[in-house]
Amino acid sequence: MTATRPAYQHLELQPIAADWRAGSSGRELPVYDPFTGQCLLQISLANRQDLDQAYAKARQTQGQWAASSPAQRSEVLLNAARIFDERREEIIGWLIRESGSTRIKAQIEWGAARAIIVEAASLPSRVHGRIVASNIPGKESRVYRKPLGVIGVISPWNFPLHLSARSLAPALALGNAVVIKPASDTPVTGGLLLARIFEEAGLPAGVLSVVVGAGAEIGDAFVEHPVPAFISFTGSTQVGRNIGRIASGGEHLKHVALELGGNSPFVVLADADLEQAVNAAVVGKFLHQGQICMAINRIIVEQPVLQAFTQRFVERVKALPYGDPSLAATVVGPVINSKQLAGLQDKIRLALAEGATLLAGGPASGNVLPPHVFGDVHADMEIAREEIFGPLVGIQSARDAEHALELANASEYGLSSAVFSANLERGVQFAQRLQAGMSHVNDMPVNDEPNAPFGGEKNSGLGRFNGDWAIDEFTTDHWITLQHTPRPYPF
Ligand code: NAD
Repeated sequence: MTATRPAYQHLELQPIAADWRAGSSGRELPVYDPFTGQCLLQISLANRQDLDQAYAKARQTQGQWAASSPAQRSEVLLNAARIFDERREEIIGWLIRESGSTRIKAQIEWGAARAIIVEAASLPSRVHGRIVASNIPGKESRVYRKPLGVIGVISPWNFPLHLSARSLAPALALGNAVVIKPASDTPVTGGLLLARIFEEAGLPAGVLSVVVGAGAEIGDAFVEHPVPAFISFTGSTQVGRNIGRIASGGEHLKHVALELGGNSPFVVLADADLEQAVNAAVVGKFLHQGQICMAINRIIVEQPVLQAFTQRFVERVKALPYGDPSLAATVVGPVINSKQLAGLQDKIRLALAEGATLLAGGPASGNVLPPHVFGDVHADMEIAREEIFGPLVGIQSARDAEHALELANASEYGLSSAVFSANLERGVQFAQRLQAGMSHVNDMPVNDEPNAPFGGEKNSGLGRFNGDWAIDEFTTDHWITLQHTPRPYPF
């Protein structure tokens, strides 16, 4: 049995440069529960000076942290995983209240963040250098793998705990210091809670800072700053493009990982097990109200099974319980805020105006939008072209498998994807031709495992997370040679 601990206090304070304190901007950020509208806490925002202090402290403490033994670093991560267990209900409670997660989603996110921390605990002993051959007589040629130094992490509000942890945990494990800038809708689950957990786990003060600040005030400075060697950004393609531009085209060049938007196709071929395809489509679309980068954005069904699939899918969707996310039975909770809701309502109006047929839907109540399904959707409609990031989906008809592939690839995005077929090898052949970083045969596109490469192609981003791929991202090579015997020079 695991012990429980008293809940963390003063989550309105930020760990800036080894000190828990209020930000210095003089401006307040109220953080709301998206379902009840209740103000959960008020945070005094950080300013440019706070950011400078956080980065300076990170640089100052990183060397000593990197010099600690692999076992010491693993220990901190394993402690953090233990604290995750002991504080499971506290963490899940915050995910429900702050990000509008249903209990099911909050449990999944808690598990995903914990799993990445456990995986990261193994990374310190999985970093390998190399000895490479040399053509120069008497030369020994070594390649060392080193931490990058200080990493800046920017995370979104949809899976804030997991998406901050998936950069934070490996970065720390590999000897880097980290400064996190969480999304303003989710400062607690996107950073402040993780900082409390890692402090309790024994991470030396200053190695991790969290700055909660307005994008307009510290957004560009966070990326342009001379200290961070690497910016790990997860968020929209629009913002990510700009981050990439600043990081690679500014005064201080730095590594960048961009995990951006998606428009996942879910393809049902005529030979698919329709029952299981419907089961996968319901979860792959509506988990967390569809606010997942990998969520199904387009359902593409081969014509012979279009009617049967649509009928069963719509039946299931109409029966999904929506509303209060804290109730165990709820599967569709609130979207994150009223601005996001208004954007989704625009998408509904536009889909109807463009000729789509509403097959399931209903009016919003507060920030809760009932699941919507549209039929007669074509590739050129906005609902098919753009990322939805909400509980809406359109179904497209494909003449045959080749047409389904063509439709699936007709997107500027290439994050995740899925195909259903009774013939697994046929499914794999189809998957190999999908333009995506991740494809799943006979499953939903929403999949993320701590040891498998996560990332996208095309405008879904650059870089891969998890497992060995995180080692590549969060370390760099240093080639060092030793001349054992005097080298004969040509002049
Ligand atoms: P967003 O791009 O609006 O914001 C992401 C983060 O960037 C937030 O923390 C925000 O405060 C910050 N930000 C915004 N402007 C900034 C600026 N100018 N400088 C520095 N930081 C800035 O995205 P969002 O609405 O929070 O999240 C939804 C988007 O994220 C969707 O497009 C979704 O697909 C994407 N996403 C991608 C992944 C992935 O792994 N590929 C995972 C989750 C979400």
